[in-house]
Amino acid sequence: MAIAKVIQYSDLPEDLQALLKEHCDVTRVGISLDLPQEQSLVPLFADVEGLIGVGQKVDSKLIELAPKLKVTSTVSVGYDHFDVPALTRRGIMLMHTPDVLTETTADMIFTLILCTARRAAELDRMIKQGRWTKTIDSEYFGSDVHGKKLGILGLGRIGSAVARRAHNGFNMEILYFGRSVKERAETEYGARRYTLDEILAEADFICSVLPLSDETHKLIGSEELSKMKKDAFLINGGRGPVVDEAALITALQNKTIRGAGLDVFEKEPLPIDSPLLALANVVTLPHIGSATHETRYEMAKCAVDNLIAALRSQSTKNCVNPEVVE
Ligand code: NAP
Repeated sequence: MAIAKVIQYSDLPEDLQALLKEHCDVTRVGISLDLPQEQSLVPLFADVEGLIGVGQKVDSKLIELAPKLKVTSTVSVGYDHFDVPALTRRGIMLMHTPDVLTETTADMIFTLILCTARRAAELDRMIKQGRWTKTIDSEYFGSDVHGKKLGILGLGRIGSAVARRAHNGFNMEILYFGRSVKERAETEYGARRYTLDEILAEADFICSVLPLSDETHKLIGSEELSKMKKDAFLINGGRGPVVDEAALITALQNKTIRGAGLDVFEKEPLPIDSPLLALANVVTLPHIGSATHETRYEMAKCAVDNLIAALRSQSTKNCVNPEVVE
C-alpha cells in the first residue's frame, strides 16, 4: 500500500521510477512550471505529502499550496533553490544527495583547472578551424598546474576531494578559506587556512566550491578580483552567483587575471549573448559537475531512498533540517 501521495517533477531512471511507485502514489508533473500560477496543478498540491525532483524553486508560496507536505527530496547536494527556513517552520524535511557526487564533481573541477591552464578548449578550436599552420609558439603557451598554489574557497566534501587530487597528483600547495579548521585536510594534504584576502594575493588558482547563501552571494566581486595575481585563474564549480559575473567579465577583458574556468553562472542556461562566450581566456561548461551516467543514477537512487525513508520513518539521513523531527 502507498505510504504517501508524491509529486515527481523531473525524470528518474526506469527502475527507480518503479521503486518509487511501489511505495508511493506518484503524480508526474512537468519541470520549470511556475507552480503557484499553474492553476490546474493547485488541486494536486492539496493532499501531497512528498515532493521529488531537481531544478524547481521551492519557496514559501509553493509550500502554502501543500498543507500536508512532509518531505521534499532534491536530486542534488545544493539546496539554494529551497526556502529552508520556510520549510523548517512548517516542519517539512528537506533531503539532499551529499557524498554520491563528490568525486565526480571534483573530477570536473580538475578538468577546468587543467583546461584553463593549458588552454585546451581554445587550442582545440584553433585546430578544428584550420588555424594550426605552424609549430606553436609562446602566443599559445599555457601555465603549469603542478607545484602551484591552489586556493580552495569551501573545503567541504567536494573541496577536499579537489585538494586530494591537487596534493597527491599535482604536488600543489593547498590554501583554503572556510568557516572552520579542516584538521584532516591539514594533516593529509598539508592544507593551510587563510583569510580570503591572503588567498587572493597568493594563489595561482582560486577555486570556489562554496554553496550559495546570503553570506556567499557575490563574495568574489571587482575588489576581490583586483587582489588576484595577474597570472592567476579563477575556477567556479560551486554556484554562479558566488562570483559577480559582470566584474569577472571586466577582469577577463582587461586581462587583470589570466583566465577562468566556469561550470556555473549567474543565469543558467548561460544566455548566448553573454560576453563570456567571446573571451578566449574562459572555459565554459554547462553545469555538468555531477553529470556522468553513474553519478546521476546514484543521485537519483539516493533521492528516492531518502524520500521513502523520510516518509516511512522520519529518517534524518541526508536531511538538511533534521531539527524538524527532533
Ligand atoms: P559541503 O561539504 O557542505 O561544503 C561546503 C563548504 O563551504 C564547507 O566547507 C563550508 O564550511 C563552506 N562554507 C559554507 N558557507 C560558507 C561561508 N559563508 N563562508 C566560508 N565558507 C563557507 O558541500 P559540498 O558537497 O562540498 O558541495 C558544495 C557546493 O558545491 C554545493 O552546495 C553546490 O552548490 C555545489 N555543487 C556544484 C555542482 C556542479 O554541478 N557544479 C555539483 C555539486 C555541488 P564549513 O565546513 O566550515 O561549514
